Amino acid sequence: MAEDCLFCKIIAGEVPSTIVHQDDDVVAFEDINPQAPTHVVIVPRQHIPTVNDLDDADQELFGKLATAAKQIAGDRGIAEDGYRLVMNCNAGAGQSVWHIHMHLLGGRRLRWPPG
Ligand code: AMP
Ligand code: ZN
Repeated sequence: MAEDCLFCKIIAGEVPSTIVHQDDDVVAFEDINPQAPTHVVIVPRQHIPTVNDLDDADQELFGKLATAAKQIAGDRGIAEDGYRLVMNCNAGAGQSVWHIHMHLLGGRRLRWPPG
């Protein structure tokens, strides 16, 4: 756990959140400022600041974020219609919490390209 990391605190239960999935490696919770009817944030329990910090040993963990997203989308009934997985890397892409996370967005029509 990293000091002063919001998502580490959510994982540890020190900051309240609505958790929708958790297992040995991954935790998912409702985004506090949802941008779509479904907006879930999926994080590894391991503190990794940005996608730039991933290395080869993290490949399996990274895949677990995607399979958790797929499972949640299925549970929400949005898999057939479609959904979007987003990871913002660094400030220029809009990253605001320095603990890697995958956004699962769905439940409405999503435009492309994103802003
Ligand atoms: P990003 O801007 O890509 O780093 O995404 C961070 C996300 O975390 C944003 O969508 C925020 O709305 C969300 N967020 C910030 N604080 C909380 C919180 N306490 N609980 C749940 N989601 C949060
Ligand atoms: Zn963290």
